[in-house]
Amino acid sequence: MFCDSGLTLETPVSELLLKNADALQDVLRRFLNWRRAHRDEYFLPDWRSRARRVPVHATKRDPESRSAGVGCFFSGGLDSFYTLLTRTDEITHLIYVLGYDVFEHQPQLAREIVDRLQVVASSFDKQFVVLKSDLRTVSNRLLHWHIYHGAALAAAGHLLRAELGQIYIPSTYTYEHLVPLGTHPSLDPLWSSHELEFIHHGGGADRPEKALVVGASEVAREHLRVCWENRGGLYNCGRCEKCRRTQVEFEVAGWGGQLASLPSTISLHELGTMQVDPRTVKFWQNCLIMAQTRGGHPALLEALEARLRETPVKRARYMIKQLMERLKHWFLKWKSRGD
Ligand SMILES: [Zn+2]
Repeated sequence: MFCDSGLTLETPVSELLLKNADALQDVLRRFLNWRRAHRDEYFLPDWRSRARRVPVHATKRDPESRSAGVGCFFSGGLDSFYTLLTRTDEITHLIYVLGYDVFEHQPQLAREIVDRLQVVASSFDKQFVVLKSDLRTVSNRLLHWHIYHGAALAAAGHLLRAELGQIYIPSTYTYEHLVPLGTHPSLDPLWSSHELEFIHHGGGADRPEKALVVGASEVAREHLRVCWENRGGLYNCGRCEKCRRTQVEFEVAGWGGQLASLPSTISLHELGTMQVDPRTVKFWQNCLIMAQTRGGHPALLEALEARLRETPVKRARYMIKQLMERLKHWFLKWKSRGD
């Protein structure tokens, strides 16, 4: 989409997927342009280029019968568990792709994740499918994972069409807070073929509402995994913004201190002084709404209100952090040009 040439595929492709190729590209290029306008996309091949729709050339594959299996992409996170628990009667397979969020230089963590997710799958009487991919060694040089991970999941899903006729993709955002992202209700179904349907699921519940449901599962409380920073090779580092936010989400949902895979206590002082990141502020607002609705947490409520209050110090800290992130990405991009 950044080149003038079209895409030519040697293997036959589903007629439905070919038919959706233009729509897929239209959604993706609008998303890319939005992220670039918001200065959130560092890995475009050329900062000045715009993504364009290109022709896709491939022969059509004859439709095959649809398999009865129903999969769910499953990383052990809150969104994954919510979809598993609310669609458990339908789901037959849980799918995890090694290499999408954990890499080869973290073999111990990878092993722990696979072992724990296998336990979850067995507990719910589901088949566990582990795929391994080195896709990100290529894609990270071209596009940010935020925008690319949906295509990567779809590619993994299509490998399983002999077993699965439907695959759930757990949502990240609620319908009213959607932002351009690699998995999105306007994008995910477009990756479907005649044999395999992708279903975006869970946008009707925010994270504290999902925590209400997921917290009721002992297996989920034992094996929940939300950390993407992987600090120290830990299953959950317990220190990053997402780990702390998840603790709060379960706290306001009534499951405080009951997550075995996260620290059992929250520092309210630390919570009130954390910097405000515009990208996650809606998640924290949802925590505040649930704390206000359910009541009974005056100290936590106060800390959440302080957490969401913008101050010059917090703003300055956030801007420095953003600048450091940008410098890091520019450095990596510059370095990758020599490889
Ligand atoms: Zn963490």
